Amino acid sequence: MNQAPKIGLVSLGCPKALVDSERIMTTLRAQGYSFSRDYAGADIVLVNTCGFLDSAKQESLEAIGEALNENGRVIVTGCLGVEEGLIRETHPSVLAITGPHQYESVVSAVHDHLPPVPNRFVDLVPESGLKLTPRHYAYLKISEGCNNRCSFCIIPQIRGDLVSRPAAGILGEAEGLIRSGVKELLVISQDTSAYGVDIKYAESKYRGRDVKAKFYDLAKELGQLGAWTRLHYVYPYPHVDQVIELMAEGLVLPYLDIPFQHASPNVLKSMRRPANQEKTLDRIKKWRDICPDLAIRSNFIVGYPGETDADFEFLLDWLEEAEIDRAGCFKYEPVTGAPANELDGIVPDEVKEERFAQLMEVAQDVSFHRLSQKVGRTIDVIVDDVRPEENRVIARSKWDAPEIDGQVIVSKADGIKIGDIVSVTVTDNDEYDLFAEPVEK
Ligand code: SF4
Repeated sequence: MNQAPKIGLVSLGCPKALVDSERIMTTLRAQGYSFSRDYAGADIVLVNTCGFLDSAKQESLEAIGEALNENGRVIVTGCLGVEEGLIRETHPSVLAITGPHQYESVVSAVHDHLPPVPNRFVDLVPESGLKLTPRHYAYLKISEGCNNRCSFCIIPQIRGDLVSRPAAGILGEAEGLIRSGVKELLVISQDTSAYGVDIKYAESKYRGRDVKAKFYDLAKELGQLGAWTRLHYVYPYPHVDQVIELMAEGLVLPYLDIPFQHASPNVLKSMRRPANQEKTLDRIKKWRDICPDLAIRSNFIVGYPGETDADFEFLLDWLEEAEIDRAGCFKYEPVTGAPANELDGIVPDEVKEERFAQLMEVAQDVSFHRLSQKVGRTIDVIVDDVRPEENRVIARSKWDAPEIDGQVIVSKADGIKIGDIVSVTVTDNDEYDLFAEPVEK
């Protein structure tokens, strides 16, 4: 079984360097890496250096030397990284050197020398998102592990039961990210709505106040930090209703990523899914009454062992009725070590293919219909990419998470930069994307 690759981190220098270290850790943690407190337990050591004064340079060189002696596999980043010649001269065996604020380069150097173990059945961050996280959004991991035991999943075996981080630590990290330019926080975990259960919702001090390690309390605090807050991997437990109110108030983005995986009660039971309730359709309707703008993204598995034609038809009808804005689909694959491998009723590959195509067609229709209702509205979008030659920018609305959802293609976009949040009027849509123009000032 694959163990999470482990990184040791030595962070030197000023508070800015510390924020860099936190950003690097956040990105790597979101990609499935874990961290070792000592050299011996690490597969690789990252040294975030300072090069401001000669004494700081000396200290950084010594720290690199120590990491090489104790571990042997070292990547250097931070301010001293601009003096690559000096580092190479003193320590020729370092694996890679990157400079200050180069999160993307450090993360990619880690990928080169200690590859992540991507697995689309267990990863929180989409594979396409593994390469880099642009500066204007960041993943914020609030807990590790999972108390559920879904039959197709090996996360609890790999990462253990739920371990939640105290709220103050998460909020401090979020603040640091925002200080370093992040405008959108993507809250991730294996089961976000279960946050804090393991530590009995313990309070921790944040800015002189006691904040509970509870889904609602954390979402509210995060929403007050001034960045977009997007919630991923939420299960429809009853207390989620309260969080929808935060969305209606505009504190948290009107977006829920709920991996339903299926809708047929038989399949859900066999999958041992959490919060598997027959009344989910009613819940979704209630949520949309509270927050009419709510977009729901979900993922579904087709061809799960024992899935009958009737189960699949049920799923298609449900998808239409629930009006799931964004649906992804996987064809079931056995994962080594997962209990579902013992189940009877293997679905043949050609049936899986057929169901996959059918589901995606229905999902596309629903998505088209939902998006067409946005045409004519004025909305805020966050810019991910600029195409000056076409005078367009590629942005996302509050209803779109990076990498997995659609885009808003904005024309007449002179002067708009990556990371800007701008107001646009939606002019058109297709199955997945919106088209828009900036609002005249
Ligand atoms: S909720 Fe289920 S699928 Fe998700 S990590 Fe936990 S056991 Fe795995």
